[in-house]
Amino acid sequence: MIPINSKLPGVGNTIFSVMSKLAEDHQAINLSQGFPDYDCDPELVSLVNTSMLKGENQYAAMPGLQTLRTLIAEKSKVLYKSDYNADTEITVTAGGTQAIFTAIAATINPGDEVIIFEPAYDCYAPCIKLFGGLVKSYEMMPPDYEIDWDMVKRLFNANTKMIILNTPHNPTGKIFKEKDVQALIRLTKGTDVLILSDEVYEHLIYDGQEHKSIARYPELKERSFIVASFGKLLHATGWKIGYCMAPENLMKEFRKVHQFNVFSVNTPMQHAIVQYLQNPDTYNQLGAFFQKKRDYFRSLMQETKFKLLPCNGSYFQCVSYDHFSQEGDVALATRLIKDYQVASIPVSAFFTRNSDHHVLRFCFAKKQETLEKAVDRLMKL
Ligand code: GLN
Repeated sequence: MIPINSKLPGVGNTIFSVMSKLAEDHQAINLSQGFPDYDCDPELVSLVNTSMLKGENQYAAMPGLQTLRTLIAEKSKVLYKSDYNADTEITVTAGGTQAIFTAIAATINPGDEVIIFEPAYDCYAPCIKLFGGLVKSYEMMPPDYEIDWDMVKRLFNANTKMIILNTPHNPTGKIFKEKDVQALIRLTKGTDVLILSDEVYEHLIYDGQEHKSIARYPELKERSFIVASFGKLLHATGWKIGYCMAPENLMKEFRKVHQFNVFSVNTPMQHAIVQYLQNPDTYNQLGAFFQKKRDYFRSLMQETKFKLLPCNGSYFQCVSYDHFSQEGDVALATRLIKDYQVASIPVSAFFTRNSDHHVLRFCFAKKQETLEKAVDRLMKL
């Protein structure tokens, strides 16, 4: 055996792979990993097919098709009143995760400190560590997972290089409010701190609330990489296409890494997305579509022993169970799969330190009958 000095010694398979595999092994209903169990629009599939038959099968331009970047720029202008230059400030990526990885790879040097808010999406901390960065976590607490920005300020020092935001938030479904953005503006003013804003659930926002994209705020935009996902927008997570927007000087560094990592993203799907998104209803109706699912799932879950936490965005519903069990959430999630055939995600997996966070995350991007069947089983607990 050749000894390898692992760059990520503590890391195993992601919690999503682990839980999805366990769900499969036990024929459980999979509400763990976030993906729809219904198909995307057949129109979209047929657009890909047409593009392939037309012979659009060779490399796309390194930063993505010009037409797709133009469409992204227009979407940002209409939704967030924010101008991005399609030539120099937008890059199409192989999903949100690759965009996050690339932004970190392009900017984080050994010893740089990066502030993250935990529970945090699982790829942030390993990416930071891979490039020698140090993770500084701020821990948010249920039920509301509010951020005390005065406490965040204490994590700031001369080595702070980046702060990673995520709104709507995975796993908690929390969204940034105006007061959060204003605090962030005050906190970063006069510093060189970068922002990586993971906004992959931008359209999944409920009860008439507004998505506080960092793109809306010039003071923040100038220091930010904004990451978005077509997988969520198109109900096609397996397509692995997303994008990143950033001011030219940041995007230049981003592309230096991107070109040697993926080079470019698959061509026919980019063509299909351009055609499909000519109709803005595709994303403008997403909030209402998922709000219905959220409301339905919440009404069903009301009948179980779990306590529902707030969900203002994303397609995740978190529940706590402290009031009836002190079992660890990994143990409970495993037991739910094995004994009740329902898979969820233990939220403690989104913390860098060992945490006894007694919260489970369920994905409600599922058919109505899937949700009903799952909750029927959960009622037996
Ligand atoms: N974003 C998805 C989730 O939170 C998982 C994606 C993945 O497995 N990499 O469930």
